[in-house]
Amino acid sequence: MVVNDRYFPPQKLSSFLNELSGRIQIDLLGKSVKNSPIYGLKIGSGIKKILIWSQMHGNETTCTRALCELIKVILNSESYKKNISFLIIPQLNPDGAEEYSRFNLNKIDLNRDAITLSQPESRVLNMMFWKFKPDYCFNLHDQRSVFSAGDSKNAAIISFLSPAVDNVKTISDSRKESMLLIAEINRTLQKKIPGQVGRYNDAYNENCFGDNFSKNGIPTLLFEAGHTGEDYSRSFSKDILLLSMKSALNSIINKTFLKRLTKDYFKIPENREKYVDLIINNATVVDQDLIYHKRQIAILYNEVLKDQGIILQPIFHSHAKRLELYSHRVIQLDKELSLNKINFKKNQIIDFSFFSNK
Ligand SMILES: [Zn+2]
Repeated sequence: MVVNDRYFPPQKLSSFLNELSGRIQIDLLGKSVKNSPIYGLKIGSGIKKILIWSQMHGNETTCTRALCELIKVILNSESYKKNISFLIIPQLNPDGAEEYSRFNLNKIDLNRDAITLSQPESRVLNMMFWKFKPDYCFNLHDQRSVFSAGDSKNAAIISFLSPAVDNVKTISDSRKESMLLIAEINRTLQKKIPGQVGRYNDAYNENCFGDNFSKNGIPTLLFEAGHTGEDYSRSFSKDILLLSMKSALNSIINKTFLKRLTKDYFKIPENREKYVDLIINNATVVDQDLIYHKRQIAILYNEVLKDQGIILQPIFHSHAKRLELYSHRVIQLDKELSLNKINFKKNQIIDFSFFSNK
């Protein structure tokens, strides 16, 4: 399967920015390892300052696509422009975006570089944080397709985190504010995707930018676009992420989040790794020379860039008589196919032609 929409390289950002030319202030904030430009967009003149960055992980593109739509919404909204000053970094990691990689060109995870600041991309984000002095930060990501919202069978279509400020997870004033904002976003989302919102574990890691900015007293919201069903282009998650960001902005302007409580935040179920992409039922499996009949095979998709599109490459995850996992798709093998022996090796790529047209 190929999903073209998921690839969002610097060229796509450039054509989007060209569309906006003349309507928006676009600054060159710095350069990537490969010397690609990192842009900052300034919109609005309001008193509240919001710093938004996306695609610090180059293969997490749903957030950037949602952000491009948000930018158009902001440009057409007098309320947003009057009340808020935005600094938006739509693609912090252009080299990773080009390679469809989580990492930058030096194979560094920028979201573990908040203290060391060893990479030019990390230094751009850090510099803009201190220069712009935001009142709020929105940290945009995509999560893998493996998460359920708590122990339920509901996939987490979106997840949030108000990052910790220290090892004992103190609820500082700024952290409380981001918790209340997330609780308010969740209130909006429950009307649309009941039970399908997750919350991330808040273990503190000062090397992550969200935790670092949160520790420095700025309410920071982590948004993670998730996955459901066979929406591998993640167009539905993109719409949900856009709705979430609009809800956060409205709430910042109208202060409606003050009506929420921190316990509303903790009521959002914590994400669990309960999902795989595909389960194949009724298979005969050969694993280390032993033959198993009527097995369930769990499969995850690797996302691989090829010819400007993203190929979903199936790899073995596990097999059992009855897997304690949920899946976004199920294939039931008929009697004839089930007798074909499938050689199982964890993490190995599957020859999917065996199941084709199923
Ligand atoms: Zn990420």
